[in-house]
Amino acid sequence: MDGLNSAKRSVTILGATGSVGKSTLDLIGRNRDRFDVLALTAHSDVRGLAGAAMRADAALAVIGDERLLPQLKDALSGSGIEAAAGEAAIVEAAEEGADWTMAAIVGCAGLRPVMAALRRGGTVALANKEALVSAGEIMTRAAEESGATLLPVDSEHNAIFQCFDRARPGSVRRITLTASGGPFRDRSREEMNGVTPAEAVAHPNWAMGAKISVDSATLMNKGLELIEAYHLFPLGPEAFDVVVHPQSVIHSMVEYVDGSVLAQLGSPDMRIPIAYTLAYPERMETPCERLDLVRIGSLDFREPDLERFPALGLARAALREGGAKPAILNAANEVAVASFLDSGVAFLDIAEIARETLACYDPPAPASIDEVLEVDQEARRRARDITRTYLN
Ligand code: NAD
Ligand code: MG
Repeated sequence: MDGLNSAKRSVTILGATGSVGKSTLDLIGRNRDRFDVLALTAHSDVRGLAGAAMRADAALAVIGDERLLPQLKDALSGSGIEAAAGEAAIVEAAEEGADWTMAAIVGCAGLRPVMAALRRGGTVALANKEALVSAGEIMTRAAEESGATLLPVDSEHNAIFQCFDRARPGSVRRITLTASGGPFRDRSREEMNGVTPAEAVAHPNWAMGAKISVDSATLMNKGLELIEAYHLFPLGPEAFDVVVHPQSVIHSMVEYVDGSVLAQLGSPDMRIPIAYTLAYPERMETPCERLDLVRIGSLDFREPDLERFPALGLARAALREGGAKPAILNAANEVAVASFLDSGVAFLDIAEIARETLACYDPPAPASIDEVLEVDQEARRRARDITRTYLN
């Protein structure tokens, strides 16, 4: 891809109003001479979307919820920015052919747009891990076919990408993903029993959207990341490990056959991996806090506790079984997390709902995006039924 010294690159941000979307816009705003914003999309935050589109001087703003189109048009009136609405319009925006697309929609809702961007080619910076978990093989094949450059944004995968010798994948023995352990790292099951959504969303190291914050608290996030890593790096499922590292300084590690271990380190700020994907293969300045190891003093590591955090074990099993299992795990987790955030099921029920959904549904492996979405819909239906049995 073009470096930063060449012509301006056109960029599209899917999920522009979220945590990753805003961090991306922050970096683009500091480098206006290097990027032209083509399209920004969001689900329902009209004001956030319109404001971002005007600040970034975007050509197009798309709101997912069609009922909000009149409001978006109002908010953009006089700006010259085109407004569109609906799921299909988000997919069309993804297909417009930006040089660089940030895929930062949360959940399986991002599947079709990510697929559209990958099919179109160019560079796709992927934050939307759920799309890769549910449809990994289909997505990576689409990228190969179109020649798209798929760059991982997730901090662990971005770290691995920076350390992994892609020309010699056979020289890599093991990949270790680090996990902060989330806000309940040191709590017993009993202590986790009554935690509130607000407590679960308060991550000790990273400021993120609500869903991924809950996933980090259950360690489902690390489980989804194991599956994500498996699709991004050509090693068998058993080559991926997780270690709890509370300081979130080492973002992940790659071990080579000779015993060398390469790691990427940095302050826990998503703008660092996002900047890596924006500038790739060059590097760009960021305003991020510099890593000060002397101030941090020491780095700790420990084994993840699968008894207190069963979600990680469920994800590991889904990765081993493959087929439809990762998509079912993801769908059930999305349903359970949404219920928890809505003050429905209890925190510890999230993994149980995922477990029960996985146990009761065993369809054949989906071979297309449509089939993945069918599995996703049926898994959601079952997960919602199971969720009801957990509500008082
Ligand atoms: P967020 O909730 O802050 O933002 C989500 C974005 O997706 C918003 O712009 C929202 O409008 C859009 N969206 C939500 N539902 C949609 C739908 N049905 N249709 C279209 N658009 C929809 O989430 P986030 O924290 O920015 O995370 C985004 C993705 O990046 C997730 O997959 C997450 O796992 C991943 N990720 C996030 C971080 C982080 O630091 N926040 C780190 C690593 C990976
Ligand atoms: Mg991560």
